[in-house]
Amino acid sequence: LITCQELFEFILGYLEGELPEPQVREFEAHLAVCPSCVRYLESYEETVRLGREACQDRAAELPADVPEDLVRAVQSARRRAG
Ligand SMILES: [Zn+2]
Repeated sequence: LITCQELFEFILGYLEGELPEPQVREFEAHLAVCPSCVRYLESYEETVRLGREACQDRAAELPADVPEDLVRAVQSARRRAG
């Protein structure tokens, strides 16, 4: 099995879906036996998600040339999600 330290190094690739299959198996095998890494992964995912949402919000304020239908679709999708 990989160590916790190795898991931390793989975590970004894992979340981005860029980790090679053998490492994904090692990664998930470690998670199966290491609850503290499961918690770490969850908090890491949450951080990444919040960061992405912040970026999307900034992007949504900028363009004036986005079709209004698209803006409305995004806004209603956000209301459904939120
Ligand atoms: Zn661990």
